[in-house]
Amino acid sequence: MVLKVNNVPPLDLSRQYAQIGDEMATAVQKVLASGAYIGGPAVKTFEQEFANYIGVSDCVGCNSGTDALILALRALKIGPGDEVITTPFTFFASAETVSAVGATPVFVDIDSATFNMDLDRLEAAITEKTKAIMPVHIFGQPMDMTRLMDIANKHNLAVIEDCAQSVGAEWQSQKVGSIGHVGCFSFYPTKNLGACGDGGAATTNDPALAAAMRRLKEHGQSSRYFYEEIGYNSRLDALQAVILSIKLRYLDSWNAQRRSIAALYGEFLSRVPGVVVPKELPLAKGVWNQYTIRLSPEDAPNPSGNFRDSVRTKLQECGVGSMVYYPFPLHLQPVYKSLGYLPGELPQAEQVCCEVLSLPMFPELSRDQQERTIYGLKDSLAVAAQIQ
Ligand SMILES: *Cc1c(COP(=O)(O)O)cnc(C)c1O
Repeated sequence: MVLKVNNVPPLDLSRQYAQIGDEMATAVQKVLASGAYIGGPAVKTFEQEFANYIGVSDCVGCNSGTDALILALRALKIGPGDEVITTPFTFFASAETVSAVGATPVFVDIDSATFNMDLDRLEAAITEKTKAIMPVHIFGQPMDMTRLMDIANKHNLAVIEDCAQSVGAEWQSQKVGSIGHVGCFSFYPTKNLGACGDGGAATTNDPALAAAMRRLKEHGQSSRYFYEEIGYNSRLDALQAVILSIKLRYLDSWNAQRRSIAALYGEFLSRVPGVVVPKELPLAKGVWNQYTIRLSPEDAPNPSGNFRDSVRTKLQECGVGSMVYYPFPLHLQPVYKSLGYLPGELPQAEQVCCEVLSLPMFPELSRDQQERTIYGLKDSLAVAAQIQ
């Protein structure tokens, strides 16, 4: 057998399968034999377990994280004429869902140290049309939810937490997804709690909101074959639910492993010139869906992303994979041209898109692979700086 000792992939899901594959297969077989593929006890059980884990009264399973956001927006009666404030530095779905329900996303620049929405700029973006704030705990790092909720309450705004990358993360010992009015989770395979396919959930402590989201995910059906609104077909499959129930038992230990990898990366990389390591707020406990650094040639801004891209190429040549989350901010995406944002308007997000590099991060990443990543990055930076 040839050992590919030099290769460090950005993500390797097969390692997790090797750990719990048998356990998952047994549970999947049981569902296959039961004939209950949609709804049924497996989905109910997972919804209860997940609600308990997050610390809320209700969990509504659905087809994806994207659908969870749509269900939350619709349940809060957000639609045409309304504005929802979010971040330009996130996966497209955060803003896309706002547009999908007919409302308008309003982007607030980020704090480049945490990559999250800059709360110093939030209040200036609130208008009489604003109905909700959608914070995104990007890369698994919780926002300052105390301050965000103070601002939301002062202006009587709903808060939809996009927790797609932050399952298990905590702000002041409270799980994200239990602090705002609704928390929206994705079980896409690369998220910290990943299904073997698509899946999502919305969490809330408001029974009326939970009931509204349950109706909406079943075609807007309020009682059997009786419809008062247009909904969706968005269900969590029983097969995914049993897989998620098993993985939920491992989530805390997997997140702890991510935290220790992040600690090692931080310890070594914070001393490397040209690297800015991500900051975790003192009251936050992040879960590191991504470990994302910023790269700039020393003392020089990097407006094109060329420096980052050449480091990334060199790193790949060292056998270390990496990813760029995200290369373009949402306010400058072609689809949002009509919103009228101009280059330079949200400078932190724009700058960060040219500097970010996400390093290999998954719970099973070995100490050897972590060290290869660190040394590979140091070497790649040195080479890229010479070319510069
Ligand atoms: C993954 C993700 C989503 C969407 O989740 P899906 O399950 O892929 O639909 C939404 N927001 C963020 C920040 C994400 O990372």
